[in-house]
Amino acid sequence: MKAPAFDYVRPSDIGGVLAALQGGHAMAKVVAGGQSLLPMLNLRLARPTLLIDIARIDALRTIDDRGTSVRIGAAITHAELEDRDIAGCAMLRTVATGIAYRSVRNRGTIGGSLVHADPAADWPLALAALGATIIVEGKSGNRAVPADSFMRAAFQTRITDDEIVVAVDVPKLSPAARTGYYKFCRKTGEFPEASAAAVFDPVSRRARLYVGALSGPPQPLDNLATTIAENGITAITEAAVAAAVDPIAGHDPAERRMRRAAVMRALKDVFAS
Ligand SMILES: Cc1cc2nc3c(=O)[nH]c(=O)nc-3n(C[C@H](O)[C@H](O)[C@H](O)COP(=O)(O)OP(=O)(O)OC[C@H]3O[C@@H](n4cnc5c(N)ncnc54)[C@H](O)[C@@H]3O)c2cc1C
Repeated sequence: MKAPAFDYVRPSDIGGVLAALQGGHAMAKVVAGGQSLLPMLNLRLARPTLLIDIARIDALRTIDDRGTSVRIGAAITHAELEDRDIAGCAMLRTVATGIAYRSVRNRGTIGGSLVHADPAADWPLALAALGATIIVEGKSGNRAVPADSFMRAAFQTRITDDEIVVAVDVPKLSPAARTGYYKFCRKTGEFPEASAAAVFDPVSRRARLYVGALSGPPQPLDNLATTIAENGITAITEAAVAAAVDPIAGHDPAERRMRRAAVMRALKDVFAS
């Protein structure tokens, strides 16, 4: 199928994007990498009357070291994060490298992934575990939304139709920090059927563990994370992981097993060396 007819603009700055969003079109939509939106257009699951291309806006394409955090522009692609070693944020590279294929990674953006809000996507899970903050801009200015509450439900987020994501702030981890990320995919390049992300930083005493690829947003396993941070690898038992995961893992026995295994393997990464 082909996409229905639409108008197309490529503003040079964020002000132009916000003006176009409020310009009176029946349905205006931002397009970044197009890796989720364009298939939806071709399948006629989305029918915007205006596409606003943000992929080349300089202000959305920077990676700034801010001391204790790194600010990543919304239009930074997965490939750009795959190719970069960002001090204190090593997990970004690990996660980016595992998204789809290089051709998708060359175009798909971190902001697009967050706003598309596929429950199986990698960035919503990884950024929740990292304790990141999403910076959203609208006509009345900027606001910050914690990554772990940005997705409201499958394919629904906390931004409104006249706002855009401009950046993601990722807190830097200490050199002593350890992270784990694991996802089950039937084939390389496919969305995962189960996924988990873990972050333990003894310096900031940050311990975060999330399970992803559920029917909605990634879910925290706070009690297990705290227990493991306090007691180390000895706290990682099959029973402890099952007790934490099963209440949110659904009723399908195979899915439960995959989710437990994803959590176990993400935790094993944390304690691998
Ligand atoms: C074959 C294939 C395999 C894939 N596998 C994976 C995978 O394993 N893991 C994974 O995580 N993802 C996967 N993806 C999705 C991919 O990561 C996309 O790049 C991502 O979901 C969307 O990013 P995008 O920049 O292409 O967004 P677009 O397709 O341009 O836009 C997606 C949505 O976000 C909105 N949007 C985009 N940017 C902004 C912004 N800054 N502010 C407000 N709204 C915005 C658009 O209006 C649209 O609603 C896959 C995609 C394909 C085609």
